[in-house]
Amino acid sequence: MKLPKETRRYCPYCKKRTTQSVGVAKQKSRSATHPMSRGSASREKLRRLRDKPGNLGRRSRKAPKSWKRKTKATKRMTLLYTCKECKKSKQGKSSIRTARLEIGDKVAK
Ligand SMILES: [Zn+2]
Repeated sequence: MKLPKETRRYCPYCKKRTTQSVGVAKQKSRSATHPMSRGSASREKLRRLRDKPGNLGRRSRKAPKSWKRKTKATKRMTLLYTCKECKKSKQGKSSIRTARLEIGDKVAK
């Protein structure tokens, strides 16, 4: 997937459309001083159960043998937009799943 290096987008800090550079958000690791600062086990469980269709295995369940699935070939990437005026960053609305991400090419529409 190809993306432009810069894009004009709304900045919630400047409250107007500004030129923003596009980047990929990296996974941040847990620090030794605040190991639970990026979420807890109970919050993770809630996130899994929230807004999910179906009955969450309350009535029927597939045979455990059929649960296994292949590992995914692509990675989920989150875009990070950095405003040129206030130098603040904001994540994109939804992450994208792609094998390779090229930032900097001119995208012809
Ligand atoms: Zn801004």
